[in-house]
Amino acid sequence: ARKFFVGGNWKCNGTIDDVKKIVTMLNESEVPSEDIVEVVVSPPFVFLPLVKALLRSDFAIAAQNCWVRRGGAFTGEISAEMLVNLGIPWVILGHSERRSLLGESNDITHWTNIVLAYEPVWAIGTGKVATPAQAQEVHVGLRKWLSEYVSSEVASSTRIIYGGSVNAANCKELAAQPDVDGFLVGGASLKPEFVDIIKSAA
Ligand code: 13P
Repeated sequence: ARKFFVGGNWKCNGTIDDVKKIVTMLNESEVPSEDIVEVVVSPPFVFLPLVKALLRSDFAIAAQNCWVRRGGAFTGEISAEMLVNLGIPWVILGHSERRSLLGESNDITHWTNIVLAYEPVWAIGTGKVATPAQAQEVHVGLRKWLSEYVSSEVASSTRIIYGGSVNAANCKELAAQPDVDGFLVGGASLKPEFVDIIKSAA
């Protein structure tokens, strides 16, 4: 079975004080156990060490991007090795905001350890959420694509999560869809309702 996955993408938000408040809120939350739901929060790069130092250990941390090659003369980039060195096991790659605003393209190498996020661009930050049926239909389509172009094992084991205006009010119905394996949450991941979204796993 695919373990439910809830990611909180903080995007380019927050101050040190905001980060401390969000982490305190998360640390004090009561959520289903690690074998029910995997929780990963993704702060801006500059706050990674702070979040790493403060966040409870059953929640993991993701960076919001990383440099695709080894380190070297690449001013302003952060390499995957640096993230590993810091104890950051996840990274969000290819977010539509980076494609549309910063010119990134598709470039995936291998599928082990990948969680795939479906985020309709019209639903990101708009308050317009996909219906559970729409999300389910696209997730099934993505799984078919994986089965055809990668392998049936990857298709059945890869978690496909939904993102785009997920909140406490709409998460339960979405989570009930058989191919919705979790969420990538933007705006609501900065608020206490993120905990309600985590709880939709159970
Ligand atoms: P919102 O939840 O703010 O719509 O953002 C979704 C998103 O882009 C998460 O990566």
